[in-house]
Amino acid sequence: MQIENCPFCGCSDRRVGIRKMGNKGYRVVCSKCGSTGPHINIADHETKSAAQEVAIEKWNERV
Ligand SMILES: [Zn+2]
Repeated sequence: MQIENCPFCGCSDRRVGIRKMGNKGYRVVCSKCGSTGPHINIADHETKSAAQEVAIEKWNERV
């Protein structure tokens, strides 16, 4: 799944990326303006990649 542009500053995938939050979860972070998507717990999903997909989905849903 592709990460959409940041809804706040409009910058795209080079600076907007998935970040690991410790060992517990992922969220999408925009390193330009500092906005973040919802934190997704790895424990709530079967695999780490499933958790990453959800983190991206949640980011993409934001307007
Ligand atoms: Zn941004």
